[in-house]
Parts: sequence; C-alpha cells; structure tokens
Amino acid sequence: SRAKLFDENDKIKVTFKDVAGLEGAKEEVEEIVEFLKNPEKFTVLGGKIPKGALLVGPPGTGKTLLAKAVAGEANVPFFSLSGSDFVEMFVGVGASRVRDLFKNAKDKAPAIIFIDEIDAIGRARGKNNFTGGNDERENTLNQLLTEMDGFGTDTNVIVLAATNRADILDKALMRAGRFDRLIHVDLPELGERKEIFEVHLKPLKLGEDVDSEFLAKQTPGFSGADIANVCNEAALVAARKNKNKIERQDFLDAVDRIIGGLEKKNKLIK
Ligand code: ATP
Repeated sequence: SRAKLFDENDKIKVTFKDVAGLEGAKEEVEEIVEFLKNPEKFTVLGGKIPKGALLVGPPGTGKTLLAKAVAGEANVPFFSLSGSDFVEMFVGVGASRVRDLFKNAKDKAPAIIFIDEIDAIGRARGKNNFTGGNDERENTLNQLLTEMDGFGTDTNVIVLAATNRADILDKALMRAGRFDRLIHVDLPELGERKEIFEVHLKPLKLGEDVDSEFLAKQTPGFSGADIANVCNEAALVAARKNKNKIERQDFLDAVDRIIGGLEKKNKLIK
C-alpha cells in the first residue's frame, strides 16, 4: 500500500481554550494567528511575515496541540506530517512529498503546515551518519529549505515545526527567513498542571473529593500528556470498581500506574 503523503484537516476544532498553561508560548503564536487572519495589516508597513517557528520542548507538553490551536483560531487548514515517517523511504520520495505538501498548502492559503519530529529530517548534515543511506534524509531536508526560501512574504503559509532536540538541528533550518522563531514549550509548573487537570477533568463524572490543586501537587514532572493519561486512567479504574463517579483514590491509583509506566520507560532508555 502506498503511504499517505501528508494529512490535511480543514476543520480543526482545537482553540486556545484547549491549551492550558503555556502562556508565553500562546502569546507568541497569537501573533501568528493575527498574521494569518489579517496579513495586509502587517505587510502594508513593509514588514515581513515570519515563515516558520520552531516549537521546542519535552514530549507531551502540547506542541502539536498548540499548532492545531493556531489553525483552529485562525480557521485555516492544517497540513501535517511527521519527520519520523521519512526514516524508511525510497530515494526521491521524501523530497517529492515535501514538494507536494507545500504545493497543496499554497493552493489553500492561508494555511498552517506542521512538521512534527523535525529532527528526524533536520539533523545536522554530516553528523550521526552511522546508519548509512542518509542521502535521502538530506534530500528531504534540502527540499524543505528550498520550499521555505521559495515562498514569498505574500504566500501566507506559516510552517510550524516541533522537536525535543533543538540542539541537534542543522543550523541552516534556523537561518533568517526559515524557522527563525524559537518558541519554548516546557513541562508545566504546579499552577499550570492545575489548569491542565481542569481541562481534562471537565468531561468526567467526578466525586466531591476530587480537587485539581491536590492532583497538581501529586504530579510534579508530569507533562500535559501524562495528565491527560491520568484522567483517562482514573476513569477506567473507577469503572472497573463499578463506580458511578470517579473519586480521589481512583486518581491516586492512576498516578501510581503512570509513575510505574514512566519508571519502566526510563529503565528501558538507560
Ligand atoms: P510529542 O513531542 O510527544 O509529539 P507534543 O508536545 O506534541 O508531544 P501533544 O501531542 O500536543 O504533545 O500532547 C498530547 C496530549 O496531551 C494532547 O492532545 C492533550 O490531550 C494533552 N496535553 C498536552 N499539553 C497540554 C496542555 N498544555 N493543555 C491541555 N492538554 C495538554
């Protein structure tokens, strides 16, 4: 079967309300929403609209969610692909896939292109070439650079990319006119975890003793994705006990499980 070239979603429902915490990052991308909605306002003064921004932070902190929220807020189509999909690809396919992606996005502009795990394509050239056969990755990266240089300031396509390894990226990606904005998306602090819990507790049937502040205190080091996981797991724990409400203890059991899972994962990495 032929791999899909990229995803397109014209009806993103995610908005900034769905993204808890991350105030600094949201402020930065709000400007991108403004560009997409009203480009003339910016270009009339001779300014150049940025073409790309890099979302940098640990896994599960909401980079994809934030990129989707930009598309949702601006009400523009969301084109996406993941760098890891390029890893095993026949010669020539990666570059043509990038070309297709940009062509489709330009045809539908204003639009957002989102490249997840850009490090899989954008690792510094000439490094980590142990696996051999990296020419294809380089072709793909070169095509990406060509596309970004090729679209003018009037194109109104903004490329967002995510990585948790900004340090290994080819510096050419960060040059002016490419991904020249860095937006940090960090692990949530106590107050932010409370807000993330509130987003994910909302659809659940909760007992009286469930409290977002308490849960935030139990979960230092958890990412937004971990918190979403806790909430879902707590619902499953309560269901298994045939309860009709999810109580504090179910959340604590869920936290234990997730911590167990994280510890296992860390052991595997070490
Ligand atoms: P990765 O680097 O692993 O791709 P990511 O940073 O792109 O991760 P997302 O895929 O955006 O993370 O997050 C996964 C899920 O975790 C989201 O769909 C959402 O349910 C939850 N989540 C993460 N961060 C937040 C947040 N700040 N507010 C609300 N929910 C969040």
